[in-house]
Amino acid sequence: MYSQMLEARIRSNKMKSIYDPVTVLANVGEKRQAALAELGIVTIEDLLTHFPFRYEDIQVKGIYEIEDQEKASLKGEVVSEPVVSRFGYKKNRLSFRLKIDRDVITVSFFNQPYLKKNIVLGEEITIYGKWDEKRKSLAGIKVLGASSSSQDYSSVYHTTKKIKQKTFVNLIKAAYQEYQDFIPETVPEALREKYRLISRKEAVYAMHFPSSEEQARQARRETIFEEFLVYQLKMQFLRKKQKTANAGVSVDYDIARLKQFIQTLPFELTTAQKRVVNEICADLKKPVHMHRLLQGDVGSGKTIVAAIAVYAAVTAQVQSALMVPTEILAEQHMETFASLFDPLEVKVALLTGSTKAKERKEILAQLKNGEIDLIIGTHALIQDTVQFADLGLVITDEQHRFGVNQRKTLSDKGTEPDVLFMTATPIPRTLAITAYGEMDVSSIDEMPAGRIPIETTWTRPKNFEHTLEFVERQLNQGSQAYVICPLIEKSENLDVKNATDIYKRLTAYYQGRYQVGLLHGQMKAEEKDTVMETFKQNEVQVLVSTTVIEVGVNVPNATTMVIYDADRFGLAQLHQLRGRVGRGNKASYCILVANPKSEAGIERMKIMTETTNGFILSEKDLELRGPGDVFGHKQSGTPDFKVGDIVSDFGALEAAREEAAELVHSEHFLSDHQYAALREKVNQEQIETGTFS
Ligand code: ADP
Ligand code: MG
Repeated sequence: MYSQMLEARIRSNKMKSIYDPVTVLANVGEKRQAALAELGIVTIEDLLTHFPFRYEDIQVKGIYEIEDQEKASLKGEVVSEPVVSRFGYKKNRLSFRLKIDRDVITVSFFNQPYLKKNIVLGEEITIYGKWDEKRKSLAGIKVLGASSSSQDYSSVYHTTKKIKQKTFVNLIKAAYQEYQDFIPETVPEALREKYRLISRKEAVYAMHFPSSEEQARQARRETIFEEFLVYQLKMQFLRKKQKTANAGVSVDYDIARLKQFIQTLPFELTTAQKRVVNEICADLKKPVHMHRLLQGDVGSGKTIVAAIAVYAAVTAQVQSALMVPTEILAEQHMETFASLFDPLEVKVALLTGSTKAKERKEILAQLKNGEIDLIIGTHALIQDTVQFADLGLVITDEQHRFGVNQRKTLSDKGTEPDVLFMTATPIPRTLAITAYGEMDVSSIDEMPAGRIPIETTWTRPKNFEHTLEFVERQLNQGSQAYVICPLIEKSENLDVKNATDIYKRLTAYYQGRYQVGLLHGQMKAEEKDTVMETFKQNEVQVLVSTTVIEVGVNVPNATTMVIYDADRFGLAQLHQLRGRVGRGNKASYCILVANPKSEAGIERMKIMTETTNGFILSEKDLELRGPGDVFGHKQSGTPDFKVGDIVSDFGALEAAREEAAELVHSEHFLSDHQYAALREKVNQEQIETGTFS
C-alpha cells in the first residue's frame, strides 16, 4: 500500500529521482525487476548507466567502401531463393545471393536456418555481417530488415536470457524519456568547462544511441571523467578520514617470534619479499591505519607475505581476516595457511556460502570470543552476523574483484584494523598510485629463485592438431593441461571458438587415453567445484575452460596452458591465465593459438612470447594502447570502472585525481550548491556515510 502511494507520487513528478527503483517504469513488473536485479540493475540510474559493451555499425555501406574482414551493413535485393545446406556434424548454412547496384554477392548464415523465412526473393533487405573480400561474400550476423533506420550504430548490451536486446533498448528509452530532466550534472560546471565536457544528460543518451563516432567519443569522455572523479573523491575522503581519525591501533608484534617463524619457512625470502615484509611490518607497528596495496605476479610469493603479516598479528594477539572472491580460492588458502600455521597452534577457520549451519554457528562463536586467529572466506565474511573479538588486520586477495563497499564493510568490523589489498595484476607504480587513489603501494617485482620460466609460443589455429599432439606428450609424462576459450557457446561471431565445441573435439581426440573436463561461468558453484576437484585429483587431465579459471586456481601438476583465440584477450588477462601453470617444479608451456588481424594483436602475441614479467608486460600494455578505441572491445585489468580503463584513459584518471585532491581540501565542497550533485553521488554509493554530515 505504502509503496503504491510512493510510486504514484514518484510518477506525478513531485519527487522524481534518478535513484528511483526501476519498477516506476510502466513496463517493469515483478518478474522484470528480478531479471534486471540479476544484472545489478535496481534503480533508474543503474539502468541508464548500463551502457552497451559494443556498437555495431549499421550504416549501410557499399562493397567498395569496406575492407576485408570488416563488419558492416549491406543493402540489396535478394536475387536467389535462400537454401539451407547441411555439412559436418550438425552444421548448416543458409545462403542466398544479394544484388547490390551492379554486383552480386553471396550471403551465408551459419546454423541459423530459421532466418530463411525473413529472406524473400525479389525483396530488398539489409544484412549486418563480416565481409570477405576475396570470396565476395558476407558472413551474416544479423538481418536488419528492409527499412534502413536513421541511426548508424546499434548498441549491444550484456543481458541475460530473460531480457532480450530489443526489450532492453526499449527500457532504456523509456527510462530516458521519463527521467532525462532528472539526470544530475555531477561534474561541476567549472570542471565541465575546463575539460570541455558535454552535459551529462547528452552524454547518457549518446552512450546508448550515438549518432556519430565523434558523439560517442564525447559521451565516453564525459562518462569516464565523472566515473573517475567520483572514485577518486571516495578514495581521498577515505584517506583523509584515516589520517585524521583517532590514531589507529598499533599492532605490537613480537619481532623475535616473527623472525623465528620466517626461519622455519622451507625457503629464503626473496629480496623483494623482504622489502615488502618490512614495509608492511612498519605500517602494522605504527599507530595509524595501514592502507596498502601489495602487488606482484602470480607465484611471486604474496601469500607467504600475507602469512607473515597474519603471524605478526597473532603475536600481537589480534585477529586477522582474509577475504577472497571465490570459494575455490578460499579453500586453497585454507589448505596453505592451515599447513603453515598448524604446528604453531594458530587457529585458522574457513567461512564461505557453503559452510554448514552448525559449523557456521560454531565458527561465529569462536570468532566472537577470540578463539579463532585467522578467518578465511568469501563475501560470507561481510555479513552482519560475523563479529570479531578484536580484528586487527584485514587482507583482501585479488582486490579488484571486490567493490570498495565490500572491502570497507569488512574493515568496519574491527576497531580501525590495518588493511592490506593484494593483487596479481601488476601495474606500473605511477599508475597504481593514481588508480588506487592515495593507497601506499608495495611491489614484489622478482620471482623466487630456481623457477623454470614458462616457455610461451604462438601458433596459428590451422596447426591445432600439432598443438594437441604437443599437449599429449606432456600428458604422457603425467602432467595436466588447461585449454582456455573465450566463450561458452556459439555466438554470432563465427570465428570465435567456444568452450563447448573445443570440449567435444578434445574429448573425441583424447578418447580412451585421457579424460577431458569442462568448466564455465554459467555452471552452478557446486558443479564448478566438482569439476575443479576432479582436475585437482588428476581424474581429469585436460580442463577446457572459459576465463572463470582466471582467479587463483592452483594445480601444480598442470604444466601446459593452451589459450584459444588468444588475440581476443588483453595482455593483462593473458598474463593472468598463463600464471595458472609454472606452479610446480616441472617445465611449463603456454601456447597461444591466434590469428590476429591487427598490428597491435600481432605485437601482443609477440610480447607474450618474450617476457613473463608482469610489470614489464603492463608497461608494454601502456605503450601499446593509445587512447581508447571507442568502438572496440574493452579490456581492462582492473574492472573497478564501468567504462573507464585505467591504462588507455590514464590522462583522465590523473586529471580526476588532481581535481579530487583539490576538492577534498576545499572549504566549499561540503557547503557549495555547485557540488551538491557530486556530494550526493559520492554519498549515494555509501562509501563514506557520515563523512559529509
Ligand atoms: P602468489 O600468491 O603471489 O601467487 P604464492 O604465495 O602462492 O604466490 O607462491 C607461489 C609458490 O612459491 C608457493 O608454493 C610458495 O610456497 C612458493 N614461494 C614463495 N616464496 C618463495 C621463496 N622466497 N622461495 C621459494 N619459493 C617460494
Ligand atoms: Mg595469490
